[in-house]
Amino acid sequence: MTAAVGPSCALPDTPLAGAVPGIMTCVHCGFCLQACPTYLALGDENDSPRGRILLMRSLVEGTLGIDDPDVHTHIDQCLGCRGCETACPSGVPYGHLLEATRATLAMARPLPLVARMVLRVFERPRLLAALLAGARLLRVTRLPRLLARLPGRIGFSMAMLASTEARVTRRPYTQRGSGARGRTAILEGCVMRGLYAETNRATGRTLRANDYDVIDVEGQRCCGALHAHAGDLEGARRLARINVAAFERSGADYIAVNAAGCGAMMKEYGDLLAGDPEWADRAAAVSARVRDASELLADAGPARGAPLPIEVTYDAPCHLLHAQRLVRPPLAVLGAIPGLEIIQLTDSDQCCGAAGIYNLLEPEVSGLVLAPKLANIAATGAELVATGNPGCQMQIGAGMLRTRTGRGTVHPIDLLDASYSRAERSHG
Ligand code: SF4
Ligand code: SF4
Repeated sequence: MTAAVGPSCALPDTPLAGAVPGIMTCVHCGFCLQACPTYLALGDENDSPRGRILLMRSLVEGTLGIDDPDVHTHIDQCLGCRGCETACPSGVPYGHLLEATRATLAMARPLPLVARMVLRVFERPRLLAALLAGARLLRVTRLPRLLARLPGRIGFSMAMLASTEARVTRRPYTQRGSGARGRTAILEGCVMRGLYAETNRATGRTLRANDYDVIDVEGQRCCGALHAHAGDLEGARRLARINVAAFERSGADYIAVNAAGCGAMMKEYGDLLAGDPEWADRAAAVSARVRDASELLADAGPARGAPLPIEVTYDAPCHLLHAQRLVRPPLAVLGAIPGLEIIQLTDSDQCCGAAGIYNLLEPEVSGLVLAPKLANIAATGAELVATGNPGCQMQIGAGMLRTRTGRGTVHPIDLLDASYSRAERSHG
């Protein structure tokens, strides 16, 4: 059977038409099924990678229409975690296929109102900053911690906010690095800047302590990952162009990103803007300089800190493990902390159900995907879960709060920073 391409394609001139070669690489072997959290949670082949690729193929062949409600349901229910990509022996570029499918389906049915509102806010930095400042004020009252017990979306949202409270204490320390490893800009991010500002500062401090010359970059914006994953590719491209221009101006050798989803997006700016002659080469050049912050730290050693006697387990963010294919660097960061007891987490390669704004749009499936993660975390007995992505920190942190499991989540770099802070205090 051959898929329709070009003139015979049922959806010419759509993002999905451009994805046909990728769709055709699927040989329907089913190796991806057990790696798919929605298939495991729902038990429906249409909610598996193989089933969704078949739906995509049916769309380009015209046997299903882009207004088919069942197609929307099963594509909407995909987390975009890309666990199927690392499981696939044929190299199916599932993440790209999903984004192209969502962008094409959005032509028949606009994104839900809540999604459109969230995406628009993330394109307006002042409005976003004001909303996040309000969230920080609310967090200080500790009311979210109380309201986290409420059932449903409100309770879960409050638990997510409460989960962003700092889990480790440290004092800023003097960085003694040489700066010889290169000029390094940090993507400040939206949620990271608004709710995890201390982690951004910790990223700067730990990079400096490991001989990177850290610089500030004006004019940077949201990376566009939420937009791309929801199918708003034009929104993602608008933001990507702004960031490409800002990081070009900086002259940085590296762009350090401490949020896995944002790093995966920025590493794909070259693909996102490949069809734009003015921006394609510039975007590819910026993408080539993007590193997860843990990659830079791991390349430098990283330097060891003072003992931190904490029991911690590590959960791999999907966009670090499956999209960026990074396994070792975050473990190298944790490994540089003497006294840290790292307890292995069963199925740490499985998605937690956060997936950008998925937990807002598909709360029931998100909860089903989160449940086994929480059970596995409880089985470790660890007090903290280290994970390098704000969405995962909030999703898992909210779940832990509501099930009274451990103390919550922390970014691996926060732990390294606390260890460095202790080292300076014990020497000073
Ligand atoms: S996506 Fe890959 S693993 Fe899954 S059925 Fe297709 S070829 Fe097999
Ligand atoms: S991206 Fe994740 S949820 Fe979607 S099909 Fe692949 S493994 Fe399943």
